[in-house]
Amino acid sequence: MSNMRNLALESVGTLNALHGDGALGHFVAGQAASGNGPLFDVVDPSTGAVLGQCHDATEAELDAAVAAARDAFASWSATPPEARRKILHRMADLIVARADEIAAVECLDAGQCWRFMSKAAIRGAENFRFFADRAPGAADGLALPSADHVNITSRKAIGPVAVITPWNTPFMLSTWKIAPALAAGCTVVHKPAEWSPYSARLLAEIGKEAGLPDGVFNSVNGLGESTGRRLTEHPDIKAVAFVGESSTGSAIMRQGAATLKRVHFELGGKNPVIVFDDADLDLALDAAVFMIYSLNGQRCTSSSRLLVQRSIYDSFVEKVAERVRKLKVGDPFDPATEVGPLIHPRHFAKVASYMEIATGEGARIAAGGAPVQGTEGFFFQPTLFANAEQSMRIAREEIFGPVLTAIPFDDEADAIAKANDVEYGLAGYLWTNDVGRALRVSDALDVGMVWVNSENVRHLPTPFGGTKASGIGRDGGDWSFDFYMETKNVALARGTHKIQQLGI
Ligand code: NAD
Repeated sequence: MSNMRNLALESVGTLNALHGDGALGHFVAGQAASGNGPLFDVVDPSTGAVLGQCHDATEAELDAAVAAARDAFASWSATPPEARRKILHRMADLIVARADEIAAVECLDAGQCWRFMSKAAIRGAENFRFFADRAPGAADGLALPSADHVNITSRKAIGPVAVITPWNTPFMLSTWKIAPALAAGCTVVHKPAEWSPYSARLLAEIGKEAGLPDGVFNSVNGLGESTGRRLTEHPDIKAVAFVGESSTGSAIMRQGAATLKRVHFELGGKNPVIVFDDADLDLALDAAVFMIYSLNGQRCTSSSRLLVQRSIYDSFVEKVAERVRKLKVGDPFDPATEVGPLIHPRHFAKVASYMEIATGEGARIAAGGAPVQGTEGFFFQPTLFANAEQSMRIAREEIFGPVLTAIPFDDEADAIAKANDVEYGLAGYLWTNDVGRALRVSDALDVGMVWVNSENVRHLPTPFGGTKASGIGRDGGDWSFDFYMETKNVALARGTHKIQQLGI
């Protein structure tokens, strides 16, 4: 797979060379815009080598990007939806045509494994097609007749929006937000995460080539506390679609309060996978291992808490441990690799710190538990904590790495109580062959999404999002359009009602 690494290095090299100073700037009003702000390094998580530098946007650069989105809004939102549909399909075609390059860049700067990224780029294209096809109906509303009026609702794009995304699967995640925003008629200023900024620029290039008018899609680079903050405070930005940590969501809500921003948050998770003793245990094992150790465990919907019925706890956990010890950790470009590096030394230090926390709390490290030796990259052994209790920090805090905490439960009520005993509420996974129990437990889980006898399989018409500290709002289907559009009601009198006469 060294040809894919070369493809990624070439792509990143081209992006670095776009601007005269060799550092990645911004994409504003359809053009590469050089940066003048402070520089920060982007690092290859597999080797620790610096891949390039990026500019934190200055206030003037950020203002220019928002102004471009504001100026383009009237014309883009008035563009016939059928024309928007065509452009977004062209974007999907171009994503497919460059899927290898996009996937390779994700492997290089996010450290994600090729075996998952090759499909993620294609899923990004599918997101564009899905919302492109719904663009023509996005403005449709309802007829709500009353005795004296006919009420007709319709929707209009809300205005220029900010999309702020994290580093874990940067390209695919950003398309969940950007595709429906553009389909709805909004213009966008995107700020990708500073630790994996490159694939966002590829999307900007693709939009330009597909025929997005200048200013409809803009991309600014920068740090959260400076560029991100200014973007969420900007009075011309009408809504903020954000994916990231719960604490950042709180900060964005504060930052957007003065300008009454509409917010859509997809935040952290500490998702349970609940395995009852009547389940198909072989399938449950496959799914539990897949959902925490794929994507390097850096996945919001990862099943990071394994709740197992006490009667089968020891045997099931031992089977998980055997699998974990055999996971193939290594070069993300190797198609055989199952777990790659963590994104950044800071994140590596955070994940590593939980080893001492776990043993200090009395849990047992049943597999892994240490950095991978002999590499300059940020590789950590896939880890399993056994004999854990729901009260422990390793069962309550989002570690966001290839780290699973296994907790026993006694019965249905105990499983539900433990599953819900966290501040997060993104997803829950449930394994049982008892239909009644599946219905009861699904109903009782305080989460936005439940998968019964399944790993996370995304179906775009369905709602995606969480409760509690895991988010506000839903993506997918028509839920996305509800966020990016304003609903208007027009009431037409039938001429049958009396109007009160005052001042006669
Ligand atoms: P993060 O919150 O640190 O950063 C996310 C983005 O927000 C980055 O672009 C960052 O620059 C920006 N940002 C940071 N501070 C900001 C501020 N004050 N104002 C505006 N923008 C700011 O998150 P991360 O570490 O990049 O990503 C990991 C987190 O994302 C995890 O908690 C994970 O669960 C979550 N996540 C959630 C979902 C979901 O769908 N629920 C999906 C993927 C990741």
